[in-house]
Amino acid sequence: MKRVYNFNAGPSAMPLDVLKAVQAEFLDFNHTGMSIVEISHRSAAYQDMQDETVGLMRRLLQVPDDYHIVFMQGGGSLQFAMHAMNFLKRRGGYLNTGVWSDKAMKAASFFGDVYEVASSKADGFSYIPKADTFVVQPDTDYVYMTSNNTIHGTEWHGYPSFDVPLFCDMSSDFMSQPVDVSKFDFIYAGAQKNIGPAGVVVAIIKDSLLAQTKEDVPVVLQYKTYVEHDSTYNTPPVFGIYFINKVMHWLEDNGGLEGAYRRNVQKAGIVYAAIDGSDGFYRGHAAADSRSLMNVTFNLPTAELEAAFVAQAAERGLIGLKGHRSLGGCRASIYNAVTEEGCRALAEFMEEFRKNH
Ligand code: PMP
Repeated sequence: MKRVYNFNAGPSAMPLDVLKAVQAEFLDFNHTGMSIVEISHRSAAYQDMQDETVGLMRRLLQVPDDYHIVFMQGGGSLQFAMHAMNFLKRRGGYLNTGVWSDKAMKAASFFGDVYEVASSKADGFSYIPKADTFVVQPDTDYVYMTSNNTIHGTEWHGYPSFDVPLFCDMSSDFMSQPVDVSKFDFIYAGAQKNIGPAGVVVAIIKDSLLAQTKEDVPVVLQYKTYVEHDSTYNTPPVFGIYFINKVMHWLEDNGGLEGAYRRNVQKAGIVYAAIDGSDGFYRGHAAADSRSLMNVTFNLPTAELEAAFVAQAAERGLIGLKGHRSLGGCRASIYNAVTEEGCRALAEFMEEFRKNH
């Protein structure tokens, strides 16, 4: 078996220790004589595992008591519509910082008025807008933001605050650093970057927001349903939640979110230094003050060189460096499970490729 250095944007690298733990337990989950994918989601063995997962996440993220944590399906994309379906009554404000917030705003427009509180769209989503450019209109129900812009490689460093509830898509930097959950009324994250396989979405919802749910929403699309039924209104994504459980243990065993953040700063520093020290051969897409710790986006002098870079890197076992199709260029996604060793291998390859070209 040969494992590669995996820089995929999502689904993406998972901790090797977690993969091994899942493998070791796959045929016999917790002495049930069955796999986790074979047991009933109504069994005590399942419920205990789900309860533990929520407890671990609550502890790691220090989620206040007046928030619920639930698991859903449908990916981040369902959340683009669902947040508005539940909470858009008059007007929704959007901090439009990337393709995914743009999509969320479009999806929400089916349910009410939407507008940009601020936007970096005209500049290729290359930066996070400054607070003095924010305009919140009257009758705004909430402001929606995306903490990390996976495609463009930008990330909020410090969160804004408003007089209205703040919603956040944390899909691509969830549990990569400590977060003050109390700044938000609603957080969601697709699992498939930092915490598990695709197919699970975690939502963290404040009770006071839940109480404001619109009435005319199908039951399965109400957040209230997931809260009232403790994520088991219908069959939950059992395997994904189980996998998240293992990742939560891994995080706890490795210094919690402070530990993750320390490693992520260190790792990103290595890759950005390779860009900044390249005499302009590699050009970062993100403005320096908006750089993401999770997704490092960059261009080479020509598209041909970019293609050669991606191909030669792959031959070295450095996988997944092609940029998103909407932006082009290159992208190294360096989520929690990507090691410092992997980032060093990438930086060394970047240096070598530059010298040869
Ligand atoms: N939000 C963000 C920040 C993302 O990066 C993505 C996908 N990579 C999505 C939402 C959409 O998620 P999904 O593919 O699960 O619908």
